Amino acid sequence: MTAPTLDDVLAKDAADPLRSFRNRFIIGDGADDPVAYLDGNSLGRLPKATAERLRDVVEREWGSRLIRSWADGWLGLPERVGDLVGSAVLGAAPGQVVVADSTTVNIAKAVHAAATLRPDRRVLVADPTDFPTDRYLVESVADQRGLKVGWLADGAGALDTVLDRGLDRGLGDNAAAVLLSAVDYRTAAFADVPAITAVVHEAGAVMVWDLSHAAGSVPLLLDADEVDLAVGCTYKYLNAGPGAPAYLYAARRHHERLDNALPGWIGADDVFAMADRYVPAPGIRRMLSGSPYVLGLVAVEEGVGLVAEAGIEQVRAKGIALTELLVALADDWLASYGVEVASPRDPERRGAHVVLRHPDAHRIDHELAARGVIGDYRNPDLWRLGLSPLTTSYEEVWLAMQATREWFAGP
Ligand SMILES: *Cc1c(COP(=O)(O)O)cnc(C)c1O
Repeated sequence: MTAPTLDDVLAKDAADPLRSFRNRFIIGDGADDPVAYLDGNSLGRLPKATAERLRDVVEREWGSRLIRSWADGWLGLPERVGDLVGSAVLGAAPGQVVVADSTTVNIAKAVHAAATLRPDRRVLVADPTDFPTDRYLVESVADQRGLKVGWLADGAGALDTVLDRGLDRGLGDNAAAVLLSAVDYRTAAFADVPAITAVVHEAGAVMVWDLSHAAGSVPLLLDADEVDLAVGCTYKYLNAGPGAPAYLYAARRHHERLDNALPGWIGADDVFAMADRYVPAPGIRRMLSGSPYVLGLVAVEEGVGLVAEAGIEQVRAKGIALTELLVALADDWLASYGVEVASPRDPERRGAHVVLRHPDAHRIDHELAARGVIGDYRNPDLWRLGLSPLTTSYEEVWLAMQATREWFAGP
């Protein structure tokens, strides 16, 4: 094929149904403004409404209302924002999602809770190529509970193996819980969530999905797919800002037996009873531990609100179009320099980022950043480019690939 020209991609931007959303974010100005910001999957851009909302929460709710603000609505934020995350991006009915703590902490809580639901089983199953925090925590939870970790077969086909052979290597009979990422943080491979969840249930185990790179980039139907537990970040495709609190989903059918390994007063049945013994709240609130992080929660509400307004189907359609453009340009302009597309080629099985493989990936990442093209390096030889549908333009993708082609061509 012939690669699209700059005029072609400008026409795509002009015809983009999500075009107006870009103006709802701070896009920066001056010398520091990136030519192409392709790292929205690590830290999404700042919505203008969030900057205003934070000012109001700091100056009025905190500054003037002071402690009265807890009763005015702060205390209900984890559940209220959780419901919004559930309806906007998770396919979850109200009352099953809370927003609190980091993804790391929520993975620990979810895996502990999953293991408690299967007290007769001895193995926690995980993917040896998953994000570090996921692997570290599965090992730690297994140690704490006297369980073993069953690592899936290494390599890109690990999830396909689950589909083809079930939970093989004898793990099946003994698997308590399986933790997997729905969109792989390196390759962007988008797992077949309903099919894998069904295989895990067939084996009698509990399914825990990490949706960090999936929520806000691909459609998810946690209720319909009968997922048990899920967690993920809000500062990636949900644009909630650095360190913003994460979400934790637990299907309503588990609530009565759902155990929180970090029980605290905010998850207790009567928060202000200051009771002698911990009695968990009846619903999803029992997964909360300590005081809600208000500044982060309102930022989640604003960021997710924008995705809700755009609609996840539109977001997905643009995510596919952006990744298809990047793949086409990389094939056309960079393959001759030894650059390989290491993400799935089928756009239906790919999230909204693309990873390119090259032995000089580290240098490429560093030197392209100096030219205003911001992606990130993932060891050992991957250059990861995140395309965030509400904020990334087709022009940015084109300029990034053009700059990369020029870098290879030399001065
Ligand atoms: C980004 C990411 C995390 C990050 O967890 P934090 O506690 O927010 O640092 C966890 N898991 C996956 C799969 C991720 O992509």
